[in-house]
Amino acid sequence: MKPVRVNPVWKLGLAYLVLLLGALAGVDFCVARIFHDNAILSAMPFTQIDQGLANVGRTLLEISFVVLLIGIGVTLLVSRRHLNRVQRLEDFCRRLAAGDFRPLPPEHGNELSDLASILNETAAHLNATIRSLTEERNRSAAILRSMVEGIAVVDARERVTFCNQAFAKIWDVGSVGIEGKPAIEVIRQTHILELIRQALSGEETLHGEISLGTAQPRNFSVTVAPIRSFNGVVTGSEAQQKKETFGAVVVLHEITDLRRLEQVRKDFVANVSHELRTPLTAIQGFAETLLSGALEDPQNSRHFVEIIRNHAARLSRLTDDLLKLSRIEAGKLDMDFQTVDLRALIGAAVESARGAASQRHLSLAIADVARNISRVLGDASLLREVMRNLLDNAIQYTPAGGSINISATKKEGFVVITVADTGIGIPQADQVRIFERFYRVDAARSREVGGTGLGLAIAKHIVEAHGGQIWVESTVAEGSQFHFSLPVAA
Ligand code: ADP
Repeated sequence: MKPVRVNPVWKLGLAYLVLLLGALAGVDFCVARIFHDNAILSAMPFTQIDQGLANVGRTLLEISFVVLLIGIGVTLLVSRRHLNRVQRLEDFCRRLAAGDFRPLPPEHGNELSDLASILNETAAHLNATIRSLTEERNRSAAILRSMVEGIAVVDARERVTFCNQAFAKIWDVGSVGIEGKPAIEVIRQTHILELIRQALSGEETLHGEISLGTAQPRNFSVTVAPIRSFNGVVTGSEAQQKKETFGAVVVLHEITDLRRLEQVRKDFVANVSHELRTPLTAIQGFAETLLSGALEDPQNSRHFVEIIRNHAARLSRLTDDLLKLSRIEAGKLDMDFQTVDLRALIGAAVESARGAASQRHLSLAIADVARNISRVLGDASLLREVMRNLLDNAIQYTPAGGSINISATKKEGFVVITVADTGIGIPQADQVRIFERFYRVDAARSREVGGTGLGLAIAKHIVEAHGGQIWVESTVAEGSQFHFSLPVAA
């Protein structure tokens, strides 16, 4: 190819001429390019051009193929790394779902590292939340377990979904396996079941009181509160709230002692009034009789004055006992604790009771007071009072011809003193109550023998103030054994 310089005037004509020449010379392809004042001609055969084009095409194909291969390789590499990271995230999510909150090792500089660190934060947050919820649940369970109140939760279908041990014990059922049982099978008390039904049907917290058992009834205050869903409480209308009550909590609180104390207090007031009224009425009656003329009758007046004196003495005994009891109960009794020679104390108490015993034709004996138990720590005058009271009772409640025996034994750091008689005995049902103030098996008989009904209550307080206990074993018509224990002096 040779550049041909031409005049600018001939530019157009030359182009045509070149074409013509090219055709004449058998050149298949010719190119003419005209610059400002020059024209460049180049010519080559079509076959050469075709071959050139074919070469270019092949080269292009090869390059494309190589580029394609490199592209596929790079894509595979990149997507494989991506896939690995996604797989790791997937495994991590699966671990989270299974409750394993260990964080992923940090990865920097890739698009998924942000997602991984967000997931790590979520896991840490979830972990903290679940831990605090678990702690809260364990604490609540421990509190519920240790509560003395019986607590149960009943669902909307009246099935027990939870109950603590105290609740299971009240109904005498094992706490295991109770959950899921119908409430009617566990709580055999129609009043509570009725309260549960009312609570489930939308009523507010309900209260009641029940008594369980017949031989020794136990009293319980019952509270049944509906459990409502959060929405129901906050936003719901009344109708909605009713719909959203999905269970009820039952709380049983034992009030047996409270009711018993109430009864004791009522009885005490009634008894005191009664005990005071009897001698006062007698004193008033005989005084009026004397004033209305009996004074002139020296024979009768003496007798009436004696009656008045006896009733006054009874009143005085009663007030003394009441004062003593109230001082003991208020903890205001001055106790002078010393080492007491128990054998000597028992001996002296028996000697002072001997006169009254022989008057009623009763034998009185001390049996089996071992030497090594002779010393206890206590207030001698108060312990004498306990002995006097037990001996008086034994003498009063044992028919003529009977016998009274005093014994003492040592048992696990305590001395147990026993006053046994062959008297009228005490019915089983009364045995737990005779230590209450004014409780008497036969009130008329007790009054007749000058009793105040306070002796055993005082004895019980004194013994307990010494760290001991007092109790009775008795069979009607056979006799009674009163025992009291005192800690042995060190
Ligand atoms: P009281 O002044 O009536 O004797 P206590 O408190 O000493 O009062 O005794 C309470 C009741 O216990 C008596 O009224 C009596 O019914 C019964 N009791 C006490 N000791 C005996 C006994 N040894 N034998 C039978 N009953 C007894």
